[in-house]
Parts: sequence; structure tokens; C-alpha cells
Amino acid sequence: MSIASHFFALIDYGRRSGAADDLSAAFVRDPALHRIPEQEANEDEIGKAIPEPVIRQLDAHLHLLGQGRARGQRTLAPDDLQLMYRTLYTLLRDTGRRPLEVCSLPRDCLETRNDQISLIWNNHKARRHRRRLPITTSTAQAIRTWQERREQLHTRLPPTGADYLFPALTHLATRPYLHTTYLSETLRHWVDSISHLHGEGTDTQGNPLPFDRSLIYAYAFRHSYAQRHADAGTPLDVLRELMDHKSVSTTQRYYTVSLKRKRDAVTKLAAHVVDNHGHPSPSSETAYELRSVAVPYGGCTEPSNVKAAGGSCPIRFQCAGCGFYRPDPSYLPAIEQHINELRADRETAQAMDAAEFVITAFTAQITAYEQVTDRMQRRLAALPAAERQEIEEASTILRKARAANAHTLLPLTVVSRTDPA
Ligand code: SF4
Repeated sequence: MSIASHFFALIDYGRRSGAADDLSAAFVRDPALHRIPEQEANEDEIGKAIPEPVIRQLDAHLHLLGQGRARGQRTLAPDDLQLMYRTLYTLLRDTGRRPLEVCSLPRDCLETRNDQISLIWNNHKARRHRRRLPITTSTAQAIRTWQERREQLHTRLPPTGADYLFPALTHLATRPYLHTTYLSETLRHWVDSISHLHGEGTDTQGNPLPFDRSLIYAYAFRHSYAQRHADAGTPLDVLRELMDHKSVSTTQRYYTVSLKRKRDAVTKLAAHVVDNHGHPSPSSETAYELRSVAVPYGGCTEPSNVKAAGGSCPIRFQCAGCGFYRPDPSYLPAIEQHINELRADRETAQAMDAAEFVITAFTAQITAYEQVTDRMQRRLAALPAAERQEIEEASTILRKARAANAHTLLPLTVVSRTDPA
């Protein structure tokens, strides 16, 4: 596409300057016919996520990114080029934005409100601009490092790209920001320069199988971002907001868990169910699926609540003190997060000089949940590593399945979706 645009720019120049006056008048660009549409992999390619272990291997070779045949060497010094491509990679990996959305980020793309840092980005595909995406401090820091360096480079960069974080690197560029081709080609050279990239499994000699490098391309990091969230149990509606998907069915596909995998996961975890004191209370698979319901921090076996699909707890989800509470290891992250929230609430109550019984209630809940997690973790730690790994995998599957069906009973995550004018 970039060769075609240079070709047409040459013809336009020839017409303007008179150098092409001898050419037939019919030799012109037809905007309807001679147009190569911008092609990006589409959302239907879900399943093309780069596995997290492969991403970790890529991270370990970041020092090679931007070297060798990286695009832009005529404009930027090697260190600057490497820093720019490392920042681009970090954004692809950590934010899940499309390659065009990353390349066209505004120069001032960070916003901090109430201690939450957001990335300001433009959804070109859906024509929704100035979207906000919550990002971590380390991602923001990577952006700031490049922003600082970029400020010092303005004399080397074409002025047309002044408003962009990643400006075009040549005066001939058809757009003011870095072309996605530069990013794609540099990523490809980088991936090809890494000596070993292992996939899953081993060959007959026990050597790790190589990972298919053609599956690593800029857009695939968007799938990885979504899959990472789905696997971690991010609720469907929250992930839809994060991905800025128009249709929930697009997001839903990241949660696809085959019935067989889910059944196997239930079999594995049903044996590790505990009660509200953290004592083993294994259940049958049928009881796990039919006679209990997932509530935010564990399974609930209270019959009226099970009948109401978890939406009718008679005692306002005080699960830690309830005899019907049946958590299993797949709930550990949710329980730990809840313990942290309870601690924060207790501190607020203390700062507000709340009545003693309020503080006591928070402390009792924290202690009870801690007892559950401590006992569960001690029991897991005593298992052989291979079995622990199986339980972790089964937990991921069940968290994903639950997140896809999540009816948000309690506020879990807040995502800013404001679009101020
Ligand atoms: S408090 Fe008891 S009844 Fe309510 S959701 Fe928790 S386990 Fe179920």
C-alpha cells in the first residue's frame, strides 16, 4: 500500500510540475478503483491470541527490538529507535489497542483522575474518539519515558507529526503519524531475530516444540489482551468496555470454554471445595453444578439463593459467616481482592470515627476470609506441583466460564466510559 501511495504521489507531482504533460490525460488515479483499503485483522480472529508464555519469551528479548532492519534508521539514532519500538510494543501488549490506534496516539495521551491513569485513544474503526482506557503505572511510565525523549527529538522529526506520540519519520509519509507498516515490519524482523521461541508441548525426545512465529503480529496482541482478561475472570460487560466492542457477542467469544473442558474443571475443583472455616467439604460434580450457585467469593448452597441464580442472598452476601458458603481454589483471587477491600473499608470507618461494632464487623469478616484462604493455600502448597498446576488451569477455566455469565452482584471493577466534549 505504501508503494502504491508513492506511485500516485509521483504522478500527482508530474502533473503539477508539468513533467508528465506528455502522458495521456487518462493516465490518472481513479479514486474509486485505485484504492487499496486499509486492512486490519478483524475481531473474528479470536483464538489467535499469542499465549502468555510466548509473550514472556518476547519480553526477555526486548533488547533486540528496534535493531537490525528496523524501519526509521535514517531519522532516529539507534537508541531512540529502540526506545520508540519498545514503547510501541509495550502499548500493544498492555493496552490491547489496534496497531493503528497505537501508532496514531495523541502526543499528550495520558490523563490522571483520582489516582487512576488512563490512556486517551481514538477508536478509528467505530469513529469514537477520545476514549479512555485504564492503564497500569508501569505502562504509563513507559509512555512518559518516550514522551520525554520525543520532546528532545523535534528537530529531527517532520513538523506534520507534531501532535502525535509516534510521528511519521519521513517528509514523504502520507500520514502525520507512524505508519502501521513500520511497526509490523519491525516486529517481524525482531521476532525472526530471536533464536528460540518455544510453544506448548515437547517432541519425542522431550525437547520443547518451536512456536509458529507467523502467529506473532501486531494485531494478535489485542487478542492476547482480551484473552488475558477473560482468563482472569474479568466480567463480560467490563471486558466489552475495555475492548470498546460494539456487540457483546464479539467479546463473548473470548470466554468460549468447551463443555468438556468445563466438566473436567468441575471434576477437579469439586474435590477441593471447603466450608466457611476453610475445612474440606468436597462435593460431587452434580452438587457443584446443580445444588450450588456462584456468588462473588465462592459457591453458595443456600436453596432459595440457588433457585434465584445467586441473586437472592438472605443475608446480603456475608458469606464468610454463613454455613452455606462453599468456596474452592478458583475463587482465591476474588477472596483476596475482597479482603483488601474490607481492609480499606475498615480504615475508612476508623478515620470516620465509626461506632466500634462497625469496625468489629469488618475485622471479623477479614479474619474469617483469611482463615479460608490460609487453609486453602496451605492445602494446595502440600500437593505435588503437577497437581497444583492442574488445579490452577481448572480454576482459570471456571473463572472464565463464570465471568461470561456474570450478573454483577456487587461492584467489582469500575471502567471510565466518559467522553467529555
Ligand atoms: S451469605 Fe450465605 S446465603 Fe448468602 S450468598 Fe453467601 S453463602 Fe449464599
